Amino acid sequence: MSTSSQLFREAQECIPGGVNSPVRAWRAVGGHPLFIQRGRGCRVVDADGKEYIDYVGSWGPLIAGHAHAQVVSALQQELKRGTSFGAPTAKEIELARIIVKAVPSIEKVRLTSSGTEATMTALRLARGYTGRTKIIKFAGCYHGHNDALLVRAGSGALTFGTPDSQGVPEAFAALTLVAEYNNLATVEAYLKADAVAAVIVEPVPGNMGLVLPEANFLAGLRTLTRTYGAVLIFDEVMSGFRLARGGAQELYNIDPDMTCLGKVIGGGLPLAAVGGKRALMDLLAPVGPVYQAGTLSGNPLAVTAGIETLKIVGNPSAYARLNELGTMLAEGLRRVIRDTGTLACVNQIGSMFTIFFGVDQVRDYATATQSDTAAFARYFQGMIERGIYLPPAQFEAAFLSLAHGAAEVEQTIAAAGEVLQNMRS
Ligand code: PMP
Repeated sequence: MSTSSQLFREAQECIPGGVNSPVRAWRAVGGHPLFIQRGRGCRVVDADGKEYIDYVGSWGPLIAGHAHAQVVSALQQELKRGTSFGAPTAKEIELARIIVKAVPSIEKVRLTSSGTEATMTALRLARGYTGRTKIIKFAGCYHGHNDALLVRAGSGALTFGTPDSQGVPEAFAALTLVAEYNNLATVEAYLKADAVAAVIVEPVPGNMGLVLPEANFLAGLRTLTRTYGAVLIFDEVMSGFRLARGGAQELYNIDPDMTCLGKVIGGGLPLAAVGGKRALMDLLAPVGPVYQAGTLSGNPLAVTAGIETLKIVGNPSAYARLNELGTMLAEGLRRVIRDTGTLACVNQIGSMFTIFFGVDQVRDYATATQSDTAAFARYFQGMIERGIYLPPAQFEAAFLSLAHGAAEVEQTIAAAGEVLQNMRS
């Protein structure tokens, strides 16, 4: 019996489902999860000592790879000075300045410990600012596990087929209007019919698998929200500092009112942020009447890991390199899909990608949910056997890091070719 399966059995006795976040349990692909012992660069080693090329990257934060020397050394120095003070520290200003400089729509930023807190605060601010209660989200977008946002949500909520979690009062869910991604008509209909406080969107959704915005969709959201007086919130917890230094809003040249960040800005430690226009951000306590707080917000270790990670991706060639690797991987996967006569498609942008089985195009929640999740599970298991660690569910994005190279990408494409060939026969 493997050490991971033994650990999983023990974990289930004291942790619900054996995991501290549902998708980690591998329910969507079967078998037991790998327990990870350590990571370095683009590789992780499981409890049995087997090494894998990692495309999970802790679900996005590890853009510099595991245990990057610069991050580890800065953390070691910081650790000696203490772990938390619950009082302001100079490094918080440094991180805030990096964010404000990189993301032009952000004039002020408040640090939190999780993306869930960031989106919760963004909604509260939008409601405080507009005096309205309803919000619009998109089917298949995931914004953390806030009550108001667990309505037709993506990621684990989608994988488990329980998009509306029990325990969320209907009265809360009723305030959330669900529109279709890449479809402006549904958004405009809602905005016309109701006074809406905010439209929240993953500008490049990664939580129904990776889906790309079609021409004018994001610009259209900007125009519509301005017309109807709703706050436009870009949830860039996944895309921020990942697709470009200024996130998806830089790539698509959009100026949202508020932005949620997470993952990369914490470099693998718990850190996220909500930022935006001064008029909105200055409504936050202690300046204004909208309450928000956190014991560990701006934690010095998390801030240190974030600053170092943002310095590493501040290298002028970083995003060009990530784009190059992403394109190489996507083209290689498309080639083996063609060569093996598999019905599947690859969505990719920069260092994010998803292979969808059983469909030739995925552009929204409806097309994503037509994909063949059983085929994905077979593919996933074949890749694991070959030492390639992918996100363990169809409706997730996979991530490359600066620690991946052409050799790992080629190894991955070759493994995918073998697995797809086996799935055909
Ligand atoms: N927003 C997006 C776009 C996310 O991808 C996630 C997490 N995957 C969250 C919010 C929630 O972040 P956290 O898990 O840190 O609460």
